[in-house]
Amino acid sequence: MKVTEHIQKASKTLFSFELLPPLKGEQFSHIQDKINPLLEFNPAYINITYHQEEIEYETLPGGLLKKHTVRKRPGTVGISSAIQYKTGIDVVPHLICGGFTREITENALIDLYFLGIDNLLLLRGDPPATQKYFVPEPDGNAFAVDLVKQVSNLNKGIYLEEGLENAHPTNFCIGVAGYPEKHPEAANPQSDLINLKAKVDAGADYIVTQMFFDNQKYFDFVKSCRAIGIDIPIIPGLKPLSAKNQLVALPQTFHVDIPQGLAKEVQKCKSKQSIYELGIAWSIAQSKELIAAGVPVLHYYTMGKSDNIRQIAKAVF
Ligand code: FAD
Repeated sequence: MKVTEHIQKASKTLFSFELLPPLKGEQFSHIQDKINPLLEFNPAYINITYHQEEIEYETLPGGLLKKHTVRKRPGTVGISSAIQYKTGIDVVPHLICGGFTREITENALIDLYFLGIDNLLLLRGDPPATQKYFVPEPDGNAFAVDLVKQVSNLNKGIYLEEGLENAHPTNFCIGVAGYPEKHPEAANPQSDLINLKAKVDAGADYIVTQMFFDNQKYFDFVKSCRAIGIDIPIIPGLKPLSAKNQLVALPQTFHVDIPQGLAKEVQKCKSKQSIYELGIAWSIAQSKELIAAGVPVLHYYTMGKSDNIRQIAKAVF
C-alpha cells in the first residue's frame, strides 16, 4: 500500500523508521535483528536507504596509488523486497541520482515494480567522501527533481525508449526530502523552497524532512511550504542524539542546529549512558509535541541502531 494511502486511512499519527542495508557480507538476519524489536509498535512502513559506491585508494609498492570502487552497502532493492515479503510491512526503498544513468534507473524501477513495491523516496544523494561537489553520471539525473520527473513519466507509461509498444504505466508513490533548516548547498531558504516546490510540481506525493531537534523549525517550515503552495503531507524525520561528539558531528554532517537547551544538558552529563538517555528523553518530548500538533507520521532515523528508537516508540506509540 502507498504511504499516502496509509496516511489517508489513519486516525492517528503513524510510526515509521529508516534502516541501512547490511554491510557487504552480512546476513539478512542482521537487518531482521534491527526490525524485530520495533514490530510491536506497528510500523506503517520501513524505509531502506541507498548507498553510492565509494572510491578507495590502495598504495602499491613504489608509492603508486591503485583506485578501487567499493559498494559497502549493496542490495537496497533485494533487501527491500525481502523485508516486504517476510514481514508483510510496506517498504520504501530510497533511489538516488548519484552513480545512476537514467537507463540504469529505469531498469531498477522496472525491477521494483515487478517486485510489488509501491513506494519510493527519491533523492539526489550526497557526493562521495572523496568528492567536494556532486557530479551526476553522464546521462544521469542531476537533481532529485529530474528523478521525480523520470518516475512520474514512468507512472504515465512514458519510458526512455520512444515508441515502446504496450508500455505499461507503473504506479509508484513518490516521497522526496525537505530541509527545515535549509539544504547546505542552497543559496538561501527561499530558493531551497522553490526547488522543493519544483519536486512537488513534478509529481512528489509527500515530503520527509531532514532531522531537526527544535520542533519550531519544523512548524515554521510547514508554514513556509503551505505559503508557497505545497499542500502534500510533510512527515517529520527525527533522530535521537546518542553521543557527545554528535554536538559537533550532526551540525557538520547534516547542517542542523542543536538547541542550546539540549547542548547545555549534554555538557552536564557525567557518563555516555546519561547522554544516551537524555537523547531519548529529548526525542520523546519532541515526538509528543509533534503528535499533539497532528503530524501524519513520525519517521525515525535509526542510523543502524534500533534500541533507542524502541525506547522512544514504547513511550510514544
Ligand atoms: P535535491 O532536491 O536535488 O537538492 C539538492 C540541492 O540542489 C539543494 O540545495 C537544492 O536547493 C538544489 N537544487 C535543487 N534543484 C535545483 C536546480 N534545478 N537548480 C539548482 N539547484 C537546485 N542520501 C543518500 O545517499 N542515500 C539515502 O538513502 C538518503 N536518504 C535520505 C533521506 C532523507 C529523508 C533525507 C532528508 C536525506 C537523505 N539522503 C540520502 C541525503 C540526500 O541525498 C542529500 O541531502 C543530498 O545532498 C540532497 O538530496 P535531495 O534529494 O534533497 O536533492
